[in-house]
Amino acid sequence: MTTHKIALLAGDGIGPEIMAEAVKVLKLIEERNTVSFDLQSALFGACAWFETGKSFPDDTIAICDNADAILKGTIGLSHEESKQIPVDEQPERGGLLPMRRRYQTYANFRPVALPPELAHFSPLRPEIIGDGIDLVIIRELVGGLYFGSKETGINDQGRRYVHEMLEYDEDQIRQVLEVAFKLAMKRKKSLTNVHKSNVLKSSVLWNEILDEVHSDYPEVSVDHILVDAAATYLCLNPTRFDVMVMENMFGDILSDQCGGILGSLGLMPSACVGPEQSYYEPSHGSAPDIAGKGIANPYSMLGSVAMMLEMSFNMSAEAGNLWKAMQGVFTDGYTTPDLARRGDAEKQISTSEFGDRVVSALADLPSAC
Ligand code: NAD
Repeated sequence: MTTHKIALLAGDGIGPEIMAEAVKVLKLIEERNTVSFDLQSALFGACAWFETGKSFPDDTIAICDNADAILKGTIGLSHEESKQIPVDEQPERGGLLPMRRRYQTYANFRPVALPPELAHFSPLRPEIIGDGIDLVIIRELVGGLYFGSKETGINDQGRRYVHEMLEYDEDQIRQVLEVAFKLAMKRKKSLTNVHKSNVLKSSVLWNEILDEVHSDYPEVSVDHILVDAAATYLCLNPTRFDVMVMENMFGDILSDQCGGILGSLGLMPSACVGPEQSYYEPSHGSAPDIAGKGIANPYSMLGSVAMMLEMSFNMSAEAGNLWKAMQGVFTDGYTTPDLARRGDAEKQISTSEFGDRVVSALADLPSAC
């Protein structure tokens, strides 16, 4: 029997609600496979700061260091509540970025998928969605503007100023592009490079490295699009894309736009992969507007579990079963309220009922081993 240690960081807002559904699913997967999960919960985010004075406390670091994978819920407070925590210690600056830096999780996989039978969830018209959407954003996750040096102060004219550096070196760029080309080779051999080389020198270097890496993957056809145009094409013709690669901030923004194209951020799981440690999280935030109401969509969290099974534990078949069980809830006519698009045509269910339905559907599928 293999045992996998998983650090569970439920976090803030809807994090604990959707993490509870992930745990239900992991328990079932344990029961039906020759695998055991050693689940170790730890504080992370604003809840950790209130309890210990740190968003990524030392005890949590120790649990994460020792885990085979990290499963993270959501962190963050509403705009007003955030003011209770000093700016540099707020959950992203004090917790999330340090975690990404510690584990050098440079490749963020964000699948954006809507099979044809779920195309009605998208706010885009059916003739635009066609046979559904199936693309993956590869976002560089440990460089660029979010990780560059930062400075604030008063300038010579007595005015407040801020200075934030967008920094990359060629190795950082190359390693994420390698991931994108390898994924393109496994899929349709088509890669869209999203950049802003008409303005940013960082994009000029990015594109130079891309040409170098491309020479090792001659079968992959590469399409270059400026990030502003990419935002438009994602709305007008999302099916033209397969694998998209981009730097950190572009990926942050465009992947949330993709959540809008699918119909909800609740459909956006992700994997953040580093050389020795990876963590899995929904792409969205803590949704303070719906926290505590039991209506958050747990699909993004459960999809992150599926990605962890496949990418960290080599359990692709069971990951495939989990995707099937999750999509089956929708095709059976149930949704959480964020996706209720057709009035009475869908029965609205709670976060925990969604999880229960996934568990029951998964239990009915033949186990992987
Ligand atoms: P958000 O992603 O939390 O929410 C945006 C909208 O999407 C809200 O209307 C919310 O209700 C909805 N939504 C998000 N996830 C959903 C789900 N699973 N089911 C149903 N609806 C869902 O963005 P925000 O409101 O701008 O940010 C809230 C907090 O989250 C902030 O503190 C922000 O810093 C933080 N945040 C954290 C992460 C992260 O942990 N990686 C990412 C983004 C934002």
